[in-house]
Amino acid sequence: MKNVSVIGAGPTGLFASYLLLKEGYSVDLYDQKNKAGRKLLLAGKSGLNITNTKDLETFSAAYGNNERQMSPALTHFTPSDLRLWMKQLGIETFEGTTGLVFLVSSGSETLLSRWMESLESNSNFKFHPEHCLVNIEKGSLFLKNENQIIILKAPLVIMGMGGASYPKTGSDGKWGKFINSMDLETKPFKPMNCGFECSWSPFFKENINHSALKNIKLTFNKNSIRGEAIITPYGLEGSPIYRFSREIRDSIEQAGKASIFLDLTPDLSLTEVMDKLNNKRGKNSISNHLRKQLKLSKTKIYLLRELSKKDIFNDLNSLAQTIKNLPVILESPRPIEEAISSSGGISFKELDNFFMLKKYPGWFTAGEMVDWDAPTGGYLLQGCFSTAYMAVEGIKIFAD
Ligand SMILES: Cc1cc2nc3c(=O)[nH]c(=O)nc-3n(C[C@H](O)[C@H](O)[C@H](O)COP(=O)(O)OP(=O)(O)OC[C@H]3O[C@@H](n4cnc5c(N)ncnc54)[C@H](O)[C@@H]3O)c2cc1C
Repeated sequence: MKNVSVIGAGPTGLFASYLLLKEGYSVDLYDQKNKAGRKLLLAGKSGLNITNTKDLETFSAAYGNNERQMSPALTHFTPSDLRLWMKQLGIETFEGTTGLVFLVSSGSETLLSRWMESLESNSNFKFHPEHCLVNIEKGSLFLKNENQIIILKAPLVIMGMGGASYPKTGSDGKWGKFINSMDLETKPFKPMNCGFECSWSPFFKENINHSALKNIKLTFNKNSIRGEAIITPYGLEGSPIYRFSREIRDSIEQAGKASIFLDLTPDLSLTEVMDKLNNKRGKNSISNHLRKQLKLSKTKIYLLRELSKKDIFNDLNSLAQTIKNLPVILESPRPIEEAISSSGGISFKELDNFFMLKKYPGWFTAGEMVDWDAPTGGYLLQGCFSTAYMAVEGIKIFAD
């Protein structure tokens, strides 16, 4: 029986382990933390969105510059395959109104415990918690457990050590140091699916704390998306911001700042907004007029006041235009430690089509450890599952 060492017990390593056992391999799974799937558990706290129902072409396009490399993996292990696998594990999923797929039970605890039960019921599986891969030299893995260093000569390896966001979950990206010394190119980690900072006034910071900007349309570089953003004391976050976080972050890197534009009334045309604003105001304050005529929330009105010149409220036509196209200047991304995911990792040029390291035949890598990124919407987990699937396919071919 052939043995595979899997490093990293996140979704990537756990799924690779599952598939390998099914194929008759024995698996030793190592993780530096005392429990598996710490980030997966955290992700489940806000409703785990495991994949979505977009057609494969649209799905692959979400991976931006890495669409070409990710597309074969997504074709071999599709979003439907993922849902089917979950069902086999006894985990029901459902499709939300926008095609996003979630777990029926809230949180990821049940998923993780069923997954671990299934692995641990196989006598060919062994989980080694608190084993941190600290070095790789001359074809050997150096794993630290308490004060001991264990040296493994492992011909078949799958590494799924994740990216560098939320390091407290174990995904600390420290592996970058020894991977670089293996003559492997890595791309620097950057925050992805993150919030951005803006210079709010002290008054605004104090009064608008974690308020939701519901039903807005966000435009960046002529691309728009509708959704709900959150105003925080440091700036903005939320799914429409995350959707463009890669582009906004890169734009800030180049130009020092980036402007996004918010439509506060996406269901009304500019003419309709103008008409409603021109309705008789009577004794109403301008804020009440905005609230009554346009149903603008208190948060939207505060934001409008924060970002516009005072005299705009005396000119209803300019006010209407600003409501439909409110510029917000974003100055910097929030730190990677707070980001949902990270860009960067092992460069695709080091990998073959099965995610095998060309310079280290028999050693594979998958998941967020590889230099691909994607917006939220189930693309991250699907990317981890599909690349883990490819790595296992690669092992099967290599070990044959
Ligand atoms: C708040 C939050 C919400 C999210 N929500 C979603 C969502 O709804 N949908 C979605 O698709 N994605 C979501 N994600 C992203 C998703 O959780 C990640 O993309 C996914 O967990 C990455 O899987 P992975 O196995 O590649 O890496 P990870 O889950 O990061 O796992 C890597 C594992 O490797 C271990 N490790 C690292 N270095 C070493 C080492 N040197 N030695 C030994 N072990 C090591 C770590 O301890 C860790 O257990 C969310 C993330 C966060 C933070």
